[in-house]
Amino acid sequence: MKASLITIGDELLIGDTVNTNSAWMGRILTHHNIGLYESLTIGDERQVLFDALDRLRKHSDVILITGGLGPTHDDITKPVLTEYTGAKLIEHQPTKDFIVRNFDKRGIPVSPSNLQQAMVPDSCEVLFNTRGTAPGMWFELSDCLVVALPGVPAEMKHLMTEKVIPKLAALNEKVPFYSYRHYFHTAGIGESTLSDMEIGDVSNFLKTGLQLAFLPHTHGVSLRVSSSSDNQEVAREKAKPLITHIRKSAGDHIYSENEKDTLPVCVVRLLTELRKTVAVAESCTGGLLGSMITDVPGSSACFLGGMIAYQNELKTRFLDVPETVLEKFGAVSPEVAMIMAKTVAKKTGASIGVSTTGIAGPGGGTEHKPVGLVYFGYYDGERHFAMKQLFFRERKFNKERTALVALDLVRRVQCGISRLPYDAKPILTK
Ligand code: ATP
Ligand code: MG
Repeated sequence: MKASLITIGDELLIGDTVNTNSAWMGRILTHHNIGLYESLTIGDERQVLFDALDRLRKHSDVILITGGLGPTHDDITKPVLTEYTGAKLIEHQPTKDFIVRNFDKRGIPVSPSNLQQAMVPDSCEVLFNTRGTAPGMWFELSDCLVVALPGVPAEMKHLMTEKVIPKLAALNEKVPFYSYRHYFHTAGIGESTLSDMEIGDVSNFLKTGLQLAFLPHTHGVSLRVSSSSDNQEVAREKAKPLITHIRKSAGDHIYSENEKDTLPVCVVRLLTELRKTVAVAESCTGGLLGSMITDVPGSSACFLGGMIAYQNELKTRFLDVPETVLEKFGAVSPEVAMIMAKTVAKKTGASIGVSTTGIAGPGGGTEHKPVGLVYFGYYDGERHFAMKQLFFRERKFNKERTALVALDLVRRVQCGISRLPYDAKPILTK
């Protein structure tokens, strides 16, 4: 079953209200195997809604509308649908009773506008709304269903879950449609490199009706393979060759194939399984790395703690970085990162020590050490090295990226992957 969505309201167009209805609708429809073909946002304009209905019904089994159901002059949905379906307005007694009862309870007089909410086109089935005064409306046109719902998110969600989805799901069973989705989460590689250098040309796979989406976000780049069919097993089988190809070609960069996973969750799981412990020595991340790890429930199984040594003096006092090393190489250097990582591991007794030292910006950069320059230290008794990264953007982004790259560094070494994040080379390896 194919659906289209029209969200109505000038406030959505000018950005006063964020269109959360369309995101929520997209999710719930997809979840129920109803494919959303088009999502359209329009202002409170009669003619635009007429035109949208004419166009969308050509390729939709159902058109869902939210907003503009209220009683004021700018609420166009009900008058337009009444005219569009050649109907006349009649009173819906249960809605009228509900409105009157509710106003009575609160001791507020019922205005004509309020009562206007109980007037509905005689061409629709009323979807009784117990969360507000505007009822939903279900129209069966010759070639398409049209469902109008209030714009207020709580009312829309209530009517969708209680009334609309069960009715659509029952109809959908007669026209089976299954969509299958598989996710990959990657870290330590940029979107274009992942696409061009690792995964390569996938056009042959896509010819079979599959889709591949690249979804970059702060934790890395996720990939979504999706396929659809009238048979669940067929949809799943169709996706398999591309899934196998991605697994093979991007393997080092994939930290999970579970939609809900995050990098910190996966690193905590990995270390716990390996019975390893980790401690952190943080300068430029200011505790963010430890915070990300401890956001994961159960992280105490592998996280011992660490040291935020932001000032040089603390790097010397608590992390045994000699003053001479700081003077000679500077705090943002591979030498300092290495000592920080080793000392924190030794002092805490952790199997792995990882450190961050860098210039988060916006100030403090020089020609040789620009903003975004970060050194990482890694120590696990067997391996001891530093790694360099150069980020560009602003401070908060640099801190977040640094903490995530540190986690990815630990993941890669512990998984026996020789390539470091963003193909960095280990420096000062001991
Ligand atoms: P009412 O009877 O309250 O007037 P309505 O069906 O006419 O309901 P609107 O007037 O369009 O709905 O919107 C009511 C409220 O819901 C407004 O605060 C509006 O910002 C919010 N709203 C409308 N559409 C959306 C949307 N797509 N996403 C999020 N909020 C929305
Ligand atoms: Mg309104």
